[in-house]
Amino acid sequence: MILIVEDEEKIARVLADYLTAAGYTTALLSRGDGVGAWVREHRPELVLLDLLLPGKPGLEVCRELRSFCDVPIIMVTAMVEEIDRLLGLELGADDYVCKPFSPREVVARVKAVLRRRQATPNPGTAQPVQAMGPFTLDEARMRVTLHGETLELTVSEFKLLRKLLLHPGHVFSRTQLLVELHGTDDEAFDRAIDTHVKNLRKRLGPSAGMLRAVYGVGYQLELE
Ligand code: CA
Repeated sequence: MILIVEDEEKIARVLADYLTAAGYTTALLSRGDGVGAWVREHRPELVLLDLLLPGKPGLEVCRELRSFCDVPIIMVTAMVEEIDRLLGLELGADDYVCKPFSPREVVARVKAVLRRRQATPNPGTAQPVQAMGPFTLDEARMRVTLHGETLELTVSEFKLLRKLLLHPGHVFSRTQLLVELHGTDDEAFDRAIDTHVKNLRKRLGPSAGMLRAVYGVGYQLELE
């Protein structure tokens, strides 16, 4: 069962419809308080959690849930920049989607998170850390090291770097990277990718040259 915590009735209904069509059963709560108790009692497979909620804000609900269980949580928010900053604080959410979103994309995210969880039956234990060139990628901890030093990354920067690292040399269009980061190919976010790349380059320091812009196409990472 997927629990949808969302106070905007229309959005909640659309999400429920799409998830039901994808074969999931859904439950709906429209307030943040009471989510903890509900989850304790009903043990849903996954929680879709809106950020702005009456009763108790989504971030607090997320912390509360994490204090007693590891149910997968996907945050839903209209505040792209805000969530990026806040999720950097090890909030424990598994993923997030930004409003406006396509319900189809949300369903895809739900499936992906559940698949990931099934692949790692003990989410608390370490997944193998992969080494690629001068980098190591620790997906479970959302951590990347470069020449042995841990990079300080926001969630968006981590996702971006992860995508590029897993496909070295591959040229990704801005649209592909947007979908990876925000679950949308809305062109309104187009410039956000450039900003994330710019910030990511700063984090890479002297190795920034590995992250290249391919004129008129997008970005690629070439391992040294
Ligand atoms: Ca809301």
